[in-house]
Amino acid sequence: MRVKCVLCDKIDKLDDQLPLAKRLRNRPIHTYMCDRCYERIKNRTEARKASNSFQLTVETKEESDWI
Ligand SMILES: [Zn+2]
Repeated sequence: MRVKCVLCDKIDKLDDQLPLAKRLRNRPIHTYMCDRCYERIKNRTEARKASNSFQLTVETKEESDWI
């Protein structure tokens, strides 16, 4: 089946046997992302996670200064 990436409109061809293809066919609302966009989102999410844990470390350090 042919699928279109929601982010960059790239058309990809998915093997009909793939679980992802079955999921997209059964639930058209389920969005498809090409590998490149998927990686980009994943990296961004991980970067945000990393900065969140950094802030957490800073906050914890500041708190311990009060004690
Ligand atoms: Zn894409």
